[in-house]
Amino acid sequence: MNNNQMNNNHDAAEFDYVIVGAGSAGCVLANRLSADGKHSVLLLEAGPRDTNIWIHVPLGYGKLFKEKTVNWMYQTEPEPGLDGRQVFQPRGKVLGGSSSINGLLYVRGQHEDYDRWRQRGNIGWGFDDVLPYFKKAENQTRGADDYHGIGGPLSVSDWRHADPLSEAFVKAAVEAGIPFNPDFNGATQEGAGFFQTTTRRGRRASSAFSYLRPAKGRGNLHIETSALAQRLVFEGRRARAVEYRQNGALRTARARKEILVSSGAYNSPQLLQLSGVGPGDVLQRVGVPVHHESPAVGRYMQDHVCYDYIFKASQPSLNEDLYPWWGKLRVGLQYILTRKGPLSLSVNQGGGYFRSRPDLPRPNIQLYFSPLTYEKTPPGTKKLMRPDPYPGFITSVSPCRPTSRGHLQIVSPDPRAAPAIHPNYLSTDHDVAELLAGARFLCRLAAAPSLAGIIAEELKPGSAVRSDAERIADIRARAYSVFHPVGTCRMGQDNAQAVVDHRLRLHGLANRRCIDASIFPKVTSGNTNAPAMLVGEKGADLVLADAG
Ligand SMILES: Cc1cc2nc3c(=O)[nH]c(=O)nc-3n(C[C@H](O)[C@H](O)[C@H](O)COP(=O)(O)OP(=O)(O)OC[C@H]3O[C@@H](n4cnc5c(N)ncnc54)[C@H](O)[C@@H]3O)c2cc1C
Repeated sequence: MNNNQMNNNHDAAEFDYVIVGAGSAGCVLANRLSADGKHSVLLLEAGPRDTNIWIHVPLGYGKLFKEKTVNWMYQTEPEPGLDGRQVFQPRGKVLGGSSSINGLLYVRGQHEDYDRWRQRGNIGWGFDDVLPYFKKAENQTRGADDYHGIGGPLSVSDWRHADPLSEAFVKAAVEAGIPFNPDFNGATQEGAGFFQTTTRRGRRASSAFSYLRPAKGRGNLHIETSALAQRLVFEGRRARAVEYRQNGALRTARARKEILVSSGAYNSPQLLQLSGVGPGDVLQRVGVPVHHESPAVGRYMQDHVCYDYIFKASQPSLNEDLYPWWGKLRVGLQYILTRKGPLSLSVNQGGGYFRSRPDLPRPNIQLYFSPLTYEKTPPGTKKLMRPDPYPGFITSVSPCRPTSRGHLQIVSPDPRAAPAIHPNYLSTDHDVAELLAGARFLCRLAAAPSLAGIIAEELKPGSAVRSDAERIADIRARAYSVFHPVGTCRMGQDNAQAVVDHRLRLHGLANRRCIDASIFPKVTSGNTNAPAMLVGEKGADLVLADAG
């Protein structure tokens, strides 16, 4: 069918804005664009409503990690830098998107990340420009200050359960030379401490919970779930409609003003490519007619890679709460009655950011600590994460600003076919060197008195792995993604190198923006949910400013 034709055989409805994807950014958009009642908004989501109870329990993370009813469960192609392994890539497929299945850590990144975005010509994206949006979004339970806001939709909280192993980790990090930092989202990110989380009174505060629930009663906001967008429909350069499939029927939603693609770092470039917007050679290879040559769609992908040290502990860890049935019963009751206890935690409580060399101007490595260990299930298996039957904990490092860049491309014109994902992990010497430096630090950390005293055994990598060559081999054998793909529709000044401009409009096309984590010009130094929601907040302002 000609891409300019509307399909006349199915329902067609018209809205001012059609948003594709109810994830971290999409829910923010839906709320903000429908707030003044002037515009009609349709929000399309491929997944279901967020009724799975494990979404709302923070430690339910492990239950959703391989739960296909709410998770796209992608797999990368074999990765040369990781010994040819395929790497599991969960993504939320439910109202709230990945914010409904993620690890809940609230991390904005470093001020310099945004200043670098602005220096690349992206006007309005420096730290001073974006800070007001972070504050506008936030309901910080510690109260407002220069860096934090109160009264916003997104609740940001401290842990409701003190975990002794996590406290020992923070003490050990200070002993190993990292200063204590009570707030990774304040004046500086550098230091060790406890993450804050997107939770409200012990429940997950996804973007659906925070932004959609309060807006659901609005007559001008229409939400369609189990609605898979398959194609954008053009009239010349203008995007006019979205074609989607719902309950077996093909439907069309027309947009009077704009179509906003917020389908995440994998599905946004996939949808654009399916619609004929992307690298011409890729599209022609799979038989999709080229509507607009846009070489950067699906290119310049970045992600954070992570490497673990795993220890058997001589003191109780969360494994004893979560492995035996009586432990599960106890923590389950505790959570139901008080919204506290282990189930109110994420898999990481302690963490930090440090410089692997003193001459570096800012932290280059993120630290994570988990007061539990679990069986890692191989790619392709659908088994849940299960805690180990002995006490244990994990320390991990993840370079903040990797230089490896990957790409993604459709392999079929069928919208249900997963795209081929090539992250190209550890393809630069820089990234390997940083992970190696991180691994050496984890060894020092394990020798710090507060951790050394509670280690019964180093399970992984084990004492046989100590030389640089052995460490690099182990990194390639065991490193994994922490699920922060970005950059596949990146923001920049021209169509050859980027997909959207600084107002998030697609280069060369009218009526259409991309608004989600795919637009990051470079990955931020840390977890990407708060930055994706920032893109939603700022994107909504840009859309409304142009609405006239
Ligand atoms: C397991 C996991 C753990 C993570 N942990 C953390 C963490 O602790 N802290 C942190 O800051 N970040 C974390 N992240 C990353 C963070 O959650 C994401 O970067 C962020 O949610 C991305 O937001 P987004 O709006 O770009 O995309 P998403 O939130 O993924 O939203 C995209 C939405 O679009 C929908 N969609 C896709 N295609 C279509 C289509 N064709 N039609 C209709 N709908 C469609 C999807 O179903 C989804 O709901 C984690 C991610 C994962 C997967």
